[in-house]
Amino acid sequence: MTTPADLRGPLPPGSTVGILGGGQLGRMLALAAARLGLKAHIYSDESESCAFYVAAATTRAAFDDKRALARFAGTCDVVTFEFENVPEDTLRHVAQHAPVAPSADALSLTQDRFSEKSFVTGLGLPTAPFRNVETEADAISSFRTWGTRAVLKTRKFGYDGKGQRIVGSAEDAARAFRDLGGAPCILEGFVDFAFEASVVAARGHDGSFAAYDVARNEHENHILRRSTVPASLTAKSAQQALTLARHIAEALNYAGILGVELFVTGEGKLLVNEIAPRVHNSGHWTLEACAVSQFEQHIRAIAGWPLGNPERHSDAVMQNIIGNEIEKWIEMSGQSGLHIYGKRFVRPGRKMGHVTTLAPRGTD
Ligand code: AMP
Repeated sequence: MTTPADLRGPLPPGSTVGILGGGQLGRMLALAAARLGLKAHIYSDESESCAFYVAAATTRAAFDDKRALARFAGTCDVVTFEFENVPEDTLRHVAQHAPVAPSADALSLTQDRFSEKSFVTGLGLPTAPFRNVETEADAISSFRTWGTRAVLKTRKFGYDGKGQRIVGSAEDAARAFRDLGGAPCILEGFVDFAFEASVVAARGHDGSFAAYDVARNEHENHILRRSTVPASLTAKSAQQALTLARHIAEALNYAGILGVELFVTGEGKLLVNEIAPRVHNSGHWTLEACAVSQFEQHIRAIAGWPLGNPERHSDAVMQNIIGNEIEKWIEMSGQSGLHIYGKRFVRPGRKMGHVTTLAPRGTD
């Protein structure tokens, strides 16, 4: 088993941070590493990875190419990942050659919605009610437990609303199970939440912990459109959100940044929806509104450096630039807080950039 203790850090400037995955999160991690005098080596299976353009070293190879993984890991002082669908075997293989953070155990737990939610409820933290669904009969009987509305989700490989269906009857639940290819699923009770929120927090190798303020998140077509900070939670709920993130990070013996996605009910109750074992889209506002961004914080955490101050000096609204909205780049080019990821190909729903607007910090 790989533990955060594997790192003999802090890593001196000039060391290399390996990053599995070459998307915008890897790109912003590489930029943050460079600022601290560290080099990034990006490993991706796609030739057009936007993180390649800002990295000191790149490897293009498949995630199951063991020789390429070993060669890559041999050049790295620590290895991390920027998307949670990195195959668990890939990370376990890399961990034989270099320290890895977050751990393969944390990755595999959060890759499976059933084990993730069972872990969260095992810590005494609230989630939507859920049941494991392995057969059509399970889908039907689980639906009958709640009886009105539910969400069927594949246990693995879901993101941005992919691999899930809202169902309104037992027959619907059975059909959705077939539609999703008969893959193992969970059925969750539908939560009539007031809004969605998230906490982005870091834990260091030494157990130190630093959380950013809670963001309020709005989605369109299952894709994050906007994150707003402050989230207008009560002080008590905001504190609860940070406490539960800490509880999760400690129970996972975590090193690095994690995102905890939450449903906030009309009564201000928080339910954990998902744990993302990586830097998170709802934390991009920290680039402008905090002295130390989530990307720098992640690099600090995995490299064994002291965590930076997560305090927010401004209010912030982060908006994603999605799909062909990027064609209006010239109209956006005068704005501060603009990040364009430099992706060569535009696709509907693809995150092409984001822009963060700041305002003087008000009362939360
Ligand atoms: P997820 O892939 O679990 O993050 O779900 C994607 C989105 O679907 C969430 O951000 C919610 O907007 C919605 N959603 C997921 N689970 C539920 C639920 N149990 N009740 C209501 N909405 C949900």
